Order: sequence, then structure tokens, then C-alpha cells
Amino acid sequence: KAKGLGKNQQCLYTEEMGVQEVRKMELEKDLQRALELKEFFIVYQPKWNVKSNRLVGFEALIRWNHPRLGIISPLEFIPIAEETGLIIPMTRWTLEEACKQCRAWKDRGIVQPVSVNLSIRLFHGDNLLELVRNVLDKAELDPHLLELEITESMVLHDVNDIIRQLENIRALGVKVSMDDFGTGYSSIGLLDRIPIDALKLDRLFTNDLDTPSKRAIINAIVLMAENLNLDVIAEGVENKEHIDFLTGLGCHVMQGYYYGKPMDIDEIDVWMYEQDHKAETIEVMG
Ligand code: C2E
Ligand code: MG
Ligand code: MG
Ligand code: MG
Repeated sequence: KAKGLGKNQQCLYTEEMGVQEVRKMELEKDLQRALELKEFFIVYQPKWNVKSNRLVGFEALIRWNHPRLGIISPLEFIPIAEETGLIIPMTRWTLEEACKQCRAWKDRGIVQPVSVNLSIRLFHGDNLLELVRNVLDKAELDPHLLELEITESMVLHDVNDIIRQLENIRALGVKVSMDDFGTGYSSIGLLDRIPIDALKLDRLFTNDLDTPSKRAIINAIVLMAENLNLDVIAEGVENKEHIDFLTGLGCHVMQGYYYGKPMDIDEIDVWMYEQDHKAETIEVMG
């Protein structure tokens, strides 16, 4: 009996592998046309300053609405886009959309910076600066309202070239932040050379705040950031406990499900209405 079960499991396992491979091949094939078929959309997640109790910006996160498979996470299709090179036109599109949206909000009196995630491939073409400048021009957006998120591992190779490109981009007035800080290959030794404005603490830290050693690490990161003149944003803030720990450690800007999940623009409107309403209620009460 046990033998039969074992055989059965092995069979299922192989089939499962097959399903995953088939899915990846299908995604690879469909990704090529997803841009022209307008299957991508962007969701925006609020960043919140706990000290001032105010919204301080949005992060733009891409989604793929696949006609047959439904909504697909960037964790699944960004690596494919990177392999195929599609990441470049895809990022151009995301930048354009995010800048257009940021400009539209500004025209409605909602002046909030928007950040866009970059992949290392964008630094290899050598025309990233040109791309960013063109997108800003087209959207007629103040460069100070755009922020680009890079990751630690991106600066490991060609560090001098990346520093040069980031310097040029920041000279436009665009801000740069280091995403998922503390999880990748540590770039601590380079932090005084890489031209950035903020560190985003990876949500693994936020989820591990009950360990004293993790708190010690965050404490040290926050102090270091202060001395380097960098802002710190905590990712993955999901509950009141996270907020209390983080504020206790000197981190006041947060992003996470507690404040708002990534939302499409209609949901963001509702969310902003609710925030205004909350603020008014507090003012009336105070
Ligand atoms: P990221 O830039 O670190 O984005 C934060 C991710 O954490 C988002 O996942 C967000 O939905 C999720 N998140 C936010 N708050 C919470 C929370 O409180 N709890 C938990 N458990 N998760 C939270 P998402 O949108 O699936 O994006 C995953 C990653 O995909 C991003 O990580 C980013 O590296 C990449 N990505 C997303 N959009 C783009 C894009 O337009 N271009 C590129 N190159 N990468 C992108
Ligand atoms: Mg990010
Ligand atoms: Mg992040
Ligand atoms: Mg992350």
C-alpha cells in the first residue's frame, strides 16, 4: 500500500512540475503582447508619516491582468520580463503611467510623490537618464515628485557606473531610495557613496520586531541613516504593535497593509476620502 502511495505522490509531483513549466512558458509567450494589449495596470500603496499623521507619498506597483489566468503578481512576471528584456518597455510604461497619475493628483491639489521600482536592466542601456527626463517632460511633472526605488544587489556590479547614473538622475531633482534594505547582499560599506535619499527597511524586519536582536539592528540602521542624512521607511507594517515598535526605534514613515494595501486609482480616491474624514473627526474632537 505504502509503495503504491509513494508512486502516486511521485507521479503528482512530476505533474505539478509540468504544470509550473507550462505556466511559465505561457506567461513568457503572453508577456510579449501584454503591453500592446493593455493588460497591465498599476496599483498605488500609501506611505504614511506617523509623526505628522499624514500621507507622504505612494509607491506604484505593477499588476498583470492575464485574460485567462487572472491577476498575476510582479513576483512572478518581473523575472520573466527581465530575462526577455521586456522589462525596459514595461518600466517605461510604468514610469509614464505613474508620472501621469502623479500629475493628475497634483492638478486636483493632492501633491504627493510617487515612487517607481527599477530593475538593474534599466541601468545597462545607458539611456536611463534620457528615459526619465523624457517621461517627466511628457507628463509635465516636477521631478521632485518622482522617486525611483533600487535594491542593494543592483549596486554590487558596476558600482561606479551606477553611482554616475544615479547622480545624473538626482541632479534632475528625482529622488532615489534603496528598497528591501537589509536583506540582499549588504551594501552598508557603500552607503556613503551611493547617492540615495532614503532606505526602505525590508518587511522581514518589521515582521521580526519581537526579537531583541532584530530591534538592535533596526536601531543601528536608523541611527546610521540619520547620520548619513537618509530617510527611513519601514515596509510591511501590518498592525499597531509594528507601529509602536518602529516609532520607539525612531522610524516614523511606514508603508503596509495597516495604512493601506496597494489600490487602483478608484480605490485610492475612496481611501483618501476616508483619511480626510478621519482627520476631520479628530480635529472636531480635539
Ligand atoms: P517591493 O518594491 O518591495 O514592494 C512591496 C511589496 O510588499 C508589494 O508587493 C506590496 O504589495 C507588499 N506589501 C506592502 N505592504 C505589505 C504588508 O503590510 N504585508 C505584506 N505581507 N506585504 C506587503 P507586490 O506589489 O507584489 O510587489 C512585489 C515586488 O515586485 C516589489 O517589491 C518589487 O520588487 C516588484 N515590483 C512591483 N512592481 C514593479 C515594477 O513596476 N517594476 C519592477 N521592476 N519591479 C516591480
Ligand atoms: Mg519597492
Ligand atoms: Mg520594498
Ligand atoms: Mg520588499
